[in-house]
Amino acid sequence: MPKYSRTKLLMALSLSTVLTLGVLPGPAMASGQASATQTVTSVAATQNLAPAGSPSVSVSAARKLDRNPNHLDVFVNKNYPLKPAKYKPKTSTVSGTGIKLRPEATKAYNKMVKAAKKSGVRIKLISGYRSYDRQAQLFNQYTRWYGKKYAERISAKPGTSEHQTGLAADVGNNNGACALQSCFENTPVGKWMKKNAHKHGFILRYPKGQESVTGYAYEPWHFRYVGTALAKSYTNSGAKTFEHYHGVASTKKNAPKSGKGTAKTTANLNMRTGVGSSNRVILTIPRGKTVKLTGSKKSGWYQVSYKSKTGWVSGTYLSNVSMPKTSKPKTETKKKPTPQKNTGSTKKTTANLNMRSGAGTNNRVILTIPKGKSVKATGKSKSGWLQVTYKSKTGWVSGTYLTNTSTPKKSKPKTESTPKKKVQTKYTTANLNMRAGNSTNKKIILTIPKGKKVEITGSKKSGWYPVKYKSKKGWVSGTYLR
Ligand SMILES: [Zn+2]
Repeated sequence: MPKYSRTKLLMALSLSTVLTLGVLPGPAMASGQASATQTVTSVAATQNLAPAGSPSVSVSAARKLDRNPNHLDVFVNKNYPLKPAKYKPKTSTVSGTGIKLRPEATKAYNKMVKAAKKSGVRIKLISGYRSYDRQAQLFNQYTRWYGKKYAERISAKPGTSEHQTGLAADVGNNNGACALQSCFENTPVGKWMKKNAHKHGFILRYPKGQESVTGYAYEPWHFRYVGTALAKSYTNSGAKTFEHYHGVASTKKNAPKSGKGTAKTTANLNMRTGVGSSNRVILTIPRGKTVKLTGSKKSGWYQVSYKSKTGWVSGTYLSNVSMPKTSKPKTETKKKPTPQKNTGSTKKTTANLNMRSGAGTNNRVILTIPKGKSVKATGKSKSGWLQVTYKSKTGWVSGTYLTNTSTPKKSKPKTESTPKKKVQTKYTTANLNMRAGNSTNKKIILTIPKGKKVEITGSKKSGWYPVKYKSKKGWVSGTYLR
């Protein structure tokens, strides 16, 4: 079998593996995700229905949360983790992909793909089920590299990813266009999915501009299977997010801001001696009145002053809340933490991994590094991508597929001999002419017999390698090297 076809095959395999794996919640695609620790309060309460001071909130308008992971409508987000955390669904492999989904989702997905194909749209499955352990591995890796705070911004903690239910699918175009990028929305598959996914039981889970609610930046590629009935009901409801639909969207308008320190009551509202409806009522503040905020807030309740009385009211019935400056200096700076330097450390690839000209999948592939190879990190990193050197090439790879093997700080015992510069070698698969340049019209220096070891002295050029054999240097065709 001619060598080049094997290489081609290998290459194709590598690429598909990279693409397949490329979906794991890598920092690469998750840069810009919002840090989403928000207090979850129900928005379902309506002002008019609210009894004075009642801290309980009417959720009649909202659908009840189902947290049973065996149910197709299970609700999972960063605030509503899976129970049990290590839940494992039954899965089946989506044929031709190696990716698993819950059997119900697999079936629906296949139907959806068929329907799209009829309209000339080719959907490619990029990611499906991810186990707790896989998610933990990723999350821990990011934590080691970037610290916990940043790791939480770019990936889901194990037990909180929808992918662990086996009901979430990341989809892309067959040609890989805009894979896992926001520009996916304008591709054929992106447009088709937006319009049709719900008919097949899939809903867009992380819509644009809803980071503060969903905990994720816009992901036009992430669809969640909930069954056709619920998908239709959800879509017809016009709810902005699945969180809104369930009445657990965080209410931004009630979020404390620094400033005037006042709020307006949206109902006749009991002021109480403490946080919670079990406390004594001091007075009832009529609806539409302005109250002064003291700056104290606890479990969704605010300490307020009204008519020279001070007490606690439920934040549910306050609007235009603006906390006084004396409150917490908790201005969340969205400053990107400086990633820990990885200067000179060696890492190992955990998959066939594309080295690219820049940080991000839209950059040119320089070469594919096979799984299990050691690469050297230069210390530069960007959005979860690391700059590495491999085979004298330097480029960027997604940090998702690297594990630490050594850190430069580890002092090695002195008895160990100085590590030699690793020499890369290959074997000839035929009697092979070494030439003065990288083409067959260059002068032959010598012929290397089949099965001999040669030293690769530089980087490949148009399929030719610079090599050293028996102290002679020249070029040989890569076709006959392995
Ligand atoms: Zn996803």
